[in-house]
Amino acid sequence: MAMTEPATIYAPATAPGEAAIAVVRVSGPAAGATLRALSGRAPPPPRTATLRQLRHPESGAPIDEALVLWFAAPASYSGEDMVEYHIHGGAAVQAALLDALAACAGLAPAPPGGFTRQAVRNGRMDLLRAEAIADLIAADSPAQHAQALAQKAGGLGALYEGWRQRLTDALAHMEAGLEFADEDLPSTLDKRAQRAAQGVADEVTTHLADTRGERLRTGLTVALLGAPNVGKSSLLNRLAGREAAIVSARAGTTRDVLEVGLRLEGLPLVLVDTAGLRAARGTIEREGVRRARARARDADMRLFLCAPRQLAVPQMAQLQRRGDILVYNKADLRGRAPPDSLPVSARTGAGLTALLKLLGERLRSRFAPRAAPALTRARHRRALEDAAEALARAKAETAAELVAENLRLAEQALAQLTGHANMERVLDAVFRDFCIGK
Ligand code: GDP
Repeated sequence: MAMTEPATIYAPATAPGEAAIAVVRVSGPAAGATLRALSGRAPPPPRTATLRQLRHPESGAPIDEALVLWFAAPASYSGEDMVEYHIHGGAAVQAALLDALAACAGLAPAPPGGFTRQAVRNGRMDLLRAEAIADLIAADSPAQHAQALAQKAGGLGALYEGWRQRLTDALAHMEAGLEFADEDLPSTLDKRAQRAAQGVADEVTTHLADTRGERLRTGLTVALLGAPNVGKSSLLNRLAGREAAIVSARAGTTRDVLEVGLRLEGLPLVLVDTAGLRAARGTIEREGVRRARARARDADMRLFLCAPRQLAVPQMAQLQRRGDILVYNKADLRGRAPPDSLPVSARTGAGLTALLKLLGERLRSRFAPRAAPALTRARHRRALEDAAEALARAKAETAAELVAENLRLAEQALAQLTGHANMERVLDAVFRDFCIGK
């Protein structure tokens, strides 16, 4: 069910008490009326910073001297009349302003992403740009920041919209062909349409095969693997520069999966410390080993640890993939490093700079953002998979009507990406994860 949008919404755009200045936004037809109710005066000229004394509209209690920005529809972020109240950042100041707004007629608190949702409805931006804004807000590494900016610039939207347009054209050709279907001559129009559809299908398939954009958006995972006591937790602690995992001299302490977020070469990284790979004794430990293997399988890269008298365990070979790194820990003890391993000591810190450098290089060569727009979200993947399936069915069909029907389905699946179809349902799904105030 689509949610009915209140006409005028308000929300803080900053978290209370976290900064010197807080911003509260009001967007909708009643936005200008709040200025009159709170400051006793009409809105200032649009886009001109103006100081106003704000008071509660009923009690007259002073709120703050605010810097007010007025944007008249449609030239605003949301496409509605909008006011931004810049007030002092204290939690009590912000609460007083929100109280005052709640007392104004026709206002409701904004749902998550409420302002951006209005912007999409008013045609100020397409859904892919709206999602890029959510990603910009969530980005905490330079690579995620760059990817979100690229998506906001419209590259991804242009790619998807281009495919949709080509299918629409192909359909138009086919439908023209269908009108002359009683002469059963092979239609050159049909052939052209099918070739065009095949071209789109190939490009969609290539785009789907590249998971880098999604990996970057959610963060890359690197699993630490090796026999118990080889020093996985110690290495994780050293790399993270903080006591994130319990380091213990008893084998089998790391029963579950521990994670630490890092940034390396501008890439968002999650280091995962897994339970030791060995024949587990208790039920809990067996579960730990099962999870360790699952995380290792799904990780973007693996660091296999060995140490003097604790060389590789047999399970490692099954999990190892190209680009993984073999680390020889406890190099401070007596022993000989296996060939192709990188010697380090989690105890003394020796070799860790070289390890981080190698890890950074490998990850960058595989995951650094590229010029071509990347697939970034599960929502996009689902819609593109639907389109690819419909295009595959179109290819397998011989009856022109069924080919056309499947092209139509593919076109609809692509239309969902930019927000040209099933608008309300798609909007609900997209804005569920948005933050309040944007
Ligand atoms: P995990 O089971 O693989 O997570 O291993 P831990 O990190 O708990 O380490 C097991 C034991 O090895 C602990 O007593 C650590 O202090 C010790 N240890 C870890 N790294 C080193 C190292 O580089 N050199 C030496 N000498 N001991 C280490």
